[in-house]
Amino acid sequence: MKEENCIFCKIASGEIPSYTLYEDNLFKVFLDLSPTSFGHALLIPKEHYANLFELDDDIASKALILAKKVATAMKASLQCDGFNLLQNNGEIAGQTMFHFHIHLIPRYKDDNTKIIFDHKSLKEEDAKTILDTIKKCL
Ligand code: 5GP
Ligand code: ZN
Repeated sequence: MKEENCIFCKIASGEIPSYTLYEDNLFKVFLDLSPTSFGHALLIPKEHYANLFELDDDIASKALILAKKVATAMKASLQCDGFNLLQNNGEIAGQTMFHFHIHLIPRYKDDNTKIIFDHKSLKEEDAKTILDTIKKCL
């Protein structure tokens, strides 16, 4: 399904041009227009899913296999020093384009890209509550 007014649906169909790195009947991988590092690309399913929670299971598993394939090619060709796969869901988590996508971010020494966690210590009572709460829904 296509969503009207979704830029990534339009990129998927070719209605909006993109620097396409890879394309098949299910996916497109194209360069991010505001890259955080040299080679930063986005992987999208051609069908519209707003986020991870809406994503079809078969597409989800194929997406990770494709992400691995493109990341491997990027590592070999760009000779990056590391790699981030990043996937945001919801505004609070940094999602700005509401068509599921995976960021492919080659990392280089001194690339000045920052993916920062404010690490806290895990409290024992929190750990128990977290496990109890989530396991009920699995
Ligand atoms: P998010 O913040 O939703 O995880 O990531 C959205 C990404 O899409 C951003 O990195 C942004 O630079 C990129 N982006 C937004 N609009 C366009 C566009 O029209 N074309 C391309 N190629 N990338 C876009
Ligand atoms: Zn879309």
